[in-house]
Amino acid sequence: MSIIEERARALMDRYAFKEIRIPALERLSLFQRSTGDTTDIVEKQMYAFSDRDEAETTVALRPEGTPGVVRAYIDAGLDRRDPEQRFFYSGPMFRRERPQKGRYRQFFQFGIEVFGRADAACDAELLTLIRDLGVELGILLHIQINSIGDSECRPKFRDALIQWGRTNWARLCEDCHNRIERNPLRLLDCKIDADLAKSAPSSLDYLCEACRTHFDTVKRLTSAAGVEFTVNPGLVRGLDYYTRTAFEVMAEGLGAQNTVIAGGRYDGLVEAMGGAAIPGIGFAIGVDRLALALHAAEVVKERTPDAAIIPIGEAARAQAMVLAHDLRAMGQLQIELLSSDRKVKALLQRAGKIGARFAVIFGDDELAKRVVQLKDLKAGTQEEVPISRLIGALSRPAKA
Ligand code: ATP
Ligand code: MG
Repeated sequence: MSIIEERARALMDRYAFKEIRIPALERLSLFQRSTGDTTDIVEKQMYAFSDRDEAETTVALRPEGTPGVVRAYIDAGLDRRDPEQRFFYSGPMFRRERPQKGRYRQFFQFGIEVFGRADAACDAELLTLIRDLGVELGILLHIQINSIGDSECRPKFRDALIQWGRTNWARLCEDCHNRIERNPLRLLDCKIDADLAKSAPSSLDYLCEACRTHFDTVKRLTSAAGVEFTVNPGLVRGLDYYTRTAFEVMAEGLGAQNTVIAGGRYDGLVEAMGGAAIPGIGFAIGVDRLALALHAAEVVKERTPDAAIIPIGEAARAQAMVLAHDLRAMGQLQIELLSSDRKVKALLQRAGKIGARFAVIFGDDELAKRVVQLKDLKAGTQEEVPISRLIGALSRPAKA
């Protein structure tokens, strides 16, 4: 997890994004308006409850970051004063889910939002950012993109979907029966019969001239930047303020929950939230899932202790504190200090179990001579080393 945040933050710096911190608790109405009250998130997944204030305001734990960022952007008057902004945020999100691999009730997102950029080059730049993140982390990411049109052309696509839904009524699930009226684009999101959705109309066949040009330019610029992607016409966002480019990013080795990043354009959102008509685009990284993918790809090796310290006896126990501190502070080493209450044999087993490279063992005799017994747990060798040379000995590169 930390490596993902670290690399993502470093990229944010190079891409000139500024951090924004948003509250974890907001009024429910913010999410109803922004996330949208016909989405699964708001319909079924929010942790919402009434506050004990006089008005008994209904508040909710944030299920995603975008609404809070948009609210902060408008509250600060940036939509009128200085509309072009590039923000990133990170933190926990909360959704009522059935917990399983890659799906938790509290999970971590790292997200970005760009305001004031309607041009296709911005969409393409975000896709290069995602490519760069994959390269930084050493993991293969598959980018899928689509265009869902805008207020000009989407109504026709929506009508076609409703038509298709009615024709296939008998094969649609109960959720989809409700979706037809409330949010027909979400018919394509149906997880129950994904094959059926393949026969549905494609948004790409309904794009107006301007949306078609925008999408073509995104594809051209993204390809020119050397970023690979595929077009997936089944990829949709259900809400009116989502426009044009939508994208999702998959990683391997995750099974069913393999989407690690999702995002897209929301040119109508700032205005729908009471601000000026400012375009926007963003995405959110599902950090927990990305971490699972990194483990599956074995690109992150957890750091294990350079040494486990095993003091024998009372005097050694006191000295072990000082020694551990020196090794951590001066040697920048990872040191785990083991309990002196157990037998040396058990402690050596423990040192092996935590993956320590060395065990540093000492008792009264060693203390008197200012030495320790240094056991190389991988090689199985042991030598006596003066304390003054211990940092050097522990920092030696391991023989391959
Ligand atoms: P899904 O279809 O998998 O439920 P979603 O459409 O609800 O995803 P988004 O709201 O687009 O997801 O969130 C962006 C990313 O956040 C997802 O692609 C995923 O990586 C991650 N994510 C979403 N919900 C969870 C969760 N409950 N636990 C862990 N990660 C999550
Ligand atoms: Mg979900």
